[in-house]
Amino acid sequence: MRALVTGGAGFIGSHVAEALLAEGHDVVVLDDLSTGSRHNVPAGATFVEGDVRDGDILERLFRAHRPQWVSHQAAQTSVSVSTREPERDADINVMGTLHLLQAAAAHGVERFVLASTGGAIYGEVPDGQRADQTWPARPYSPYACSKLAAEAYVQCWRAAHGLDAVTLRYANVYGPRQDPHGEAGVVAIFSERILAGAPITVFAMDEAGDPGCVRDYVFVEDVVRANLWALSGRLSAPIVDVATGQPTTTADLAQRIARAAERAPDVTFGPRRPGDLRRSVLAPDPALPPPTPLDQGLARTVAWFRQRSSRGDAA
Ligand code: NAD
Repeated sequence: MRALVTGGAGFIGSHVAEALLAEGHDVVVLDDLSTGSRHNVPAGATFVEGDVRDGDILERLFRAHRPQWVSHQAAQTSVSVSTREPERDADINVMGTLHLLQAAAAHGVERFVLASTGGAIYGEVPDGQRADQTWPARPYSPYACSKLAAEAYVQCWRAAHGLDAVTLRYANVYGPRQDPHGEAGVVAIFSERILAGAPITVFAMDEAGDPGCVRDYVFVEDVVRANLWALSGRLSAPIVDVATGQPTTTADLAQRIARAAERAPDVTFGPRRPGDLRRSVLAPDPALPPPTPLDQGLARTVAWFRQRSSRGDAA
């Protein structure tokens, strides 16, 4: 098949593009390189540098490459940027998705996948519980609002235009190639710092010194598989949660990464960060195979960061 991966120069999109190529598909990547890197685009993919909001670029791309599948990963992904610049966040995440849907419908795309977020959309998940699609959406950030709006457009194009579309709501994704330099992506940040012998900070859930917030960390390969299954028609539900269901505190995560890195980390405990969800855990969708165990995924991730630092190409 011919597949378009938007955001294919980023963390998750580059893995999706790589997996599609490995299965023998033709892949075109559209990315404006705002947070992604040209180096992440896998060899064998055609790269188009451009913005998903640019209708002319989309028209040229769809005419030239005639994608049958679209995996829409490109987005403004930072919650804090969305808080500072909600208009830009909405423009990229809502208008970008809308432009892409219009192009996809006009050019007869067979399947469309939207990358969305379970964590931000479900909000706080009380102790002992796991969120799923029966939960009401509780957007607490402009990012959650823009993703929810994008989801609504995808649902609308599914219902009104017959576009075969699936929304994947990811938990906290981690794995090789995640950028360790943002304020999110704690697995990447901890992996890089622990390997370098640098101190790490566990931000509090409530009071400095507690084990930190609880998250559901899902390995990028599981997210890639969900994308490939959705694109190939193996997932039929309109919304699918991609998660592990396993609650992990930040302190527990740090210990697990330290074990994988075979280093004793220098841990400091910071205050609660305003806006951080205390607890976010999702129920994995039973239509997907069992997720990668956390320690297995962390070992693969740490190995990748170790190899990168030994090559000396850490940014
Ligand atoms: P990322 O920042 O690594 O990748 C996003 C890519 O999109 C980047 O390469 C960036 O350059 C590109 N991009 C941004 N704006 C663009 C635009 N206007 N036009 C074209 N390209 C643009 O982020 P990621 O972690 O790989 O996230 C991929 C998707 O998964 C996003 O939609 C994100 O919201 C979603 N998601 C990620 C997580 C996570 O834990 N990483 C969790 C939930 C949802």
